[in-house]
Amino acid sequence: MEFKVGIQDISDRIAAAASKVGRSRESVKLIAVSKVQPNARVAAVLQEGHRCFGENRVQEAAGKWPEFREGFDDIDLHLIGPLQTNKARQAFDLFQSIHSLDRPKLAKTFARLAQETGYCPELFVQVNTGEEAQKAGILPSEADAFIKDCKALDLSITGLMCIPPVDEEPSLHFALLSKIAKRNGLDGLSMGMSSDFEKAIRLGATHVRVGSAIFGARVAAP
Ligand SMILES: *Cc1c(COP(=O)(O)O)cnc(C)c1O
Repeated sequence: MEFKVGIQDISDRIAAAASKVGRSRESVKLIAVSKVQPNARVAAVLQEGHRCFGENRVQEAAGKWPEFREGFDDIDLHLIGPLQTNKARQAFDLFQSIHSLDRPKLAKTFARLAQETGYCPELFVQVNTGEEAQKAGILPSEADAFIKDCKALDLSITGLMCIPPVDEEPSLHFALLSKIAKRNGLDGLSMGMSSDFEKAIRLGATHVRVGSAIFGARVAAP
């Protein structure tokens, strides 16, 4: 199967969805989710001029992005998957943004690392809007207190992130995330994937995480 880079198509769809609700294309950041994609596909998207990518595993990102960075110095890399505390330092080194701040222990580790290094990636608190047992994230009922605790640790929180349950209408979850962000004075909303990013933009997404719609179906990990 031939691989056709779909980044411009997706960018156009983002612009159209944003314009329908009176927003600009620039108000939505497109994170091209490159996890488990062959390096040739990632390189093709880089060649097209796109620089913002998402990975869901620290190990995988560490294996491919340092090399890509030798060719492109302005790569903006986002961690969108769960983070073990013992990989937090490595994540600070690799990523400009972390979307999976999901527990007090990680917040404390981030605060300590920020103090030590004088640097902190942009942070999103992941909210488990569907209250799914197998999914990471702070429960909606505990989100306000957790965000407050993060601020007390001097962590600057950019916004909230969610991954809606696969079998439910995502708009309900996007609306809930937006409501929690608003009442906590947060502007960033990381929500929307290949199948639902237009709905997410309608409900205020500032960051959409799009993988297969750009790169094609994910192939198996090597
Ligand atoms: C894989 C992944 C995506 C992208 O999924 P697609 O359906 O391929 O667009 C978005 N967000 C997270 C957290 C992911 O793990």
